[in-house]
Amino acid sequence: MENKILGIHHITAIAGDAKRNFDFYSKVLGLRFIKKTVNFDDPGTYHFYFGDEVGSAGTILTFFPWGAGLQQGRKGSGMATEIGYSVPQGSLEFWIERFEKYNVIYNKPSVKFGERYLTFLDPDGLKLELIESKTPDNRKAWETDEVKADVATKGFHNITLTLKNIKPTAAILTEIFGYQLMEQEVNRYRYATSEVEGAAIVDLVELPDEKHGHVANGSVHHVAFRVPNDEVLMHFREKIENYGLSITPQIDRQYFHSLYFREPGGVLFEIATDNPGFTVDETLENLGKGLKLPPRYESIREDIEANLVKIN
Ligand code: ZN
Repeated sequence: MENKILGIHHITAIAGDAKRNFDFYSKVLGLRFIKKTVNFDDPGTYHFYFGDEVGSAGTILTFFPWGAGLQQGRKGSGMATEIGYSVPQGSLEFWIERFEKYNVIYNKPSVKFGERYLTFLDPDGLKLELIESKTPDNRKAWETDEVKADVATKGFHNITLTLKNIKPTAAILTEIFGYQLMEQEVNRYRYATSEVEGAAIVDLVELPDEKHGHVANGSVHHVAFRVPNDEVLMHFREKIENYGLSITPQIDRQYFHSLYFREPGGVLFEIATDNPGFTVDETLENLGKGLKLPPRYESIREDIEANLVKIN
């Protein structure tokens, strides 16, 4: 069997204030807060994970909240510029009312590829979209008291990458990941995998004259693609190396195993496994309740906790 990528695994972005980030995504957007941990490469700062009930691949949005005073990112080429969530048909009116109530910056709904969508900004200026998918999305939404299943996000619909030239990135998607070009509207090219129903789309927007973007506060740090297990992960490592790109060794991220490489268009890509998942150190019911640390930081837990702001 030929191994293909199973859509998006997670998307990681940079935020400023941790509490403000936690409140926006868990309360206003109504995602489940599934993991509170630290940046494994910088344990003085948090790493937050939001998703559906279990933290299914394709629903996981993660943040490095690096605190106030962070330099603001600049949108441009060579970066992921929009994160698209799938929402039920007819739910945008609910969201507009909610964004009014919470002073969220948003645009009037518009249509692309025949799908109605609502663009909005998170408190750090990160651009997101709620999209009424034209194909039924059967994923089970996480519900909160204020955001019920009939309007709640169901996980990612797509990610948009802005590029000076889409060709080298498109080649990675089609030749290595198993994606196909589905549709095109002006300079937006929609690629998708048929291996999964949700989180299957990558849109490439070509802007030849666009300045290179700067990844900092309010921007996407990397996009992670999904594989089922370590065996397939290492198969992709070999494939990408043979393609002539440099790629990291396998890295243990506690909740998944990862590889990182920069695709030729400049966007940092990760490939991540389903195993072991978010219940490896907390029960399903208690996901996101405690501060979880990888074993190597347990001995300095007190110092780490003393340094982090309380969020919940
Ligand atoms: Zn990641």
